[in-house]
Amino acid sequence: MKRITLVAADEAHTIWGWTFRKQFKKIGQVRLAIPKVPFAAFSATFPPHVIGYVQKICKMNCPSDVITVNGRRRNINILVAVQPARRTYDPILNLIPKTDEEAIRFPKTLIFVDSILDARCMAIALREKLEAHYPTADSSMIIRTYYSSIDDEKKEATIRLFKDGRAFLVIATDAMSLGVDISDIERVIQWGITERLTLDTLVQRIGRAARMSSLLGLAIIYTPRDLLDPITAARVEASNPTQPTPQTESGTEEILLHPPPDDEWEDIVDAIPRYAGRDLCAFALPVERQTVAEVRQLRIKMYRHISTVKDIAREADAERRAPKRDDAGKVVKKRPIDKIEPAIVWFLNTTGCRHRCVLEYMRFPDVFEDDEQQSWCCDNCAIRKGITIAMPRGYDIPEPASLRGAAKRNTPSRIDWNVINQGVQSWPDYSQTTETFLRSVLKTWRKHIFAKMVERGTMSKFVPEQAVLSDRAINEILSKKYLKHAVTLGGLHFVLMRAKVDVDSNILREKDIIEMFNMIHSAFEMLERGKSLSALLVV
Ligand SMILES: [Zn+2]
Repeated sequence: MKRITLVAADEAHTIWGWTFRKQFKKIGQVRLAIPKVPFAAFSATFPPHVIGYVQKICKMNCPSDVITVNGRRRNINILVAVQPARRTYDPILNLIPKTDEEAIRFPKTLIFVDSILDARCMAIALREKLEAHYPTADSSMIIRTYYSSIDDEKKEATIRLFKDGRAFLVIATDAMSLGVDISDIERVIQWGITERLTLDTLVQRIGRAARMSSLLGLAIIYTPRDLLDPITAARVEASNPTQPTPQTESGTEEILLHPPPDDEWEDIVDAIPRYAGRDLCAFALPVERQTVAEVRQLRIKMYRHISTVKDIAREADAERRAPKRDDAGKVVKKRPIDKIEPAIVWFLNTTGCRHRCVLEYMRFPDVFEDDEQQSWCCDNCAIRKGITIAMPRGYDIPEPASLRGAAKRNTPSRIDWNVINQGVQSWPDYSQTTETFLRSVLKTWRKHIFAKMVERGTMSKFVPEQAVLSDRAINEILSKKYLKHAVTLGGLHFVLMRAKVDVDSNILREKDIIEMFNMIHSAFEMLERGKSLSALLVV
């Protein structure tokens, strides 16, 4: 015993509810047996109330030292999409490649579902569809399932096949969100949001994508409309001056009337997520430098204090299941959104950056470092910045949830290059003006990137600028044949490949290609808006 220097618990967020490892239930007794040995608890996803709980249950000093390192996943793009209302797997079935070209582009994909039944049914449907297009394919090897009741041998086989690339699609339950480390999963899909899902679990799942830092990952979260529309409706109502301001339901005032002193809730202890009396409008809140105070209030309002942490998971469960009451105390029917963890409701409905929302909620220090993101970041950022939502391989991406219905009609007339790419909207005329303008844009970009490389020391100043991007490559990109492809990032990659530009060499990095793409994109936008051609060149 004397030689024990530290007790460390990894994935310590699972101490909450000890559903992952039953042994965690007794972790407090370890502390009592060796009171002088330091305790440490680690996790990549520590919601505030869980940190408080873990400190108490491990009988640590309260408050303990909390060390938080940066948590931003810079190489993952996040997109929230609407799950179809009918009970159908259509968006998932549409992933199955129909042509060899689509098959080549197919990214290694992990789909999370929250029931074994869903995992099984989805696998059957996907295998059938795959066999319809590729009758000789071994569909049970290519499409795998992974859940707790599958025997260890089969689970290991799935991991092996997925790792070496023979399986390209795995449907898993939470059994796979911890401990399985496969570095080159490119796309993670969360199929649906259930009342048992918490934001930390969702973030763990998203984090399975692109473990390898050189890979760009995509996380798609399919949510039922029921979890979005009530917030849109609440916002419309609140912004309508002819309507009286909606009264917050009873229960909220208790906190609003007695705002806690600044540090009291700094580590939210003895608290469980709150399901009753929520002000839905608040869940649209973006994380901006100007909204820091409101965000802090929102985070506090997401919780309810309890008197004892004994059986906290059961208490939290009871809170989640408690009947909903109106102002008069009468029991009313719950809507689906009333059963969802507040942090998830916020993540799905924030009008700001989704990465920021997660980082802020988990108290990571790098909330505002979104310049570090390697691609378009999240659907909300992409829409705000007017960046095309695409991935390097050019596979199909669902429409972001925020563009659904009314919101879509109210969006200012922005050029939707995804739509253009599918041939729905007219292509800007290919003319001498387009060509001349784009040529000067690309040459300016080349000059700029060359100067940056010389400055970084990755390029000698005696090498001609053409080493970055040759004139021949520029001609290819601007040719009538290829220019139409350059409206998506995947398309630009295709064009560069045709122009024999080695994107994987050390010269141009993925980040540079994205920058080049953004330049072309803004140039198109400018042409479309008929702005002065010189404006962009001056910049
Ligand atoms: Zn973002």
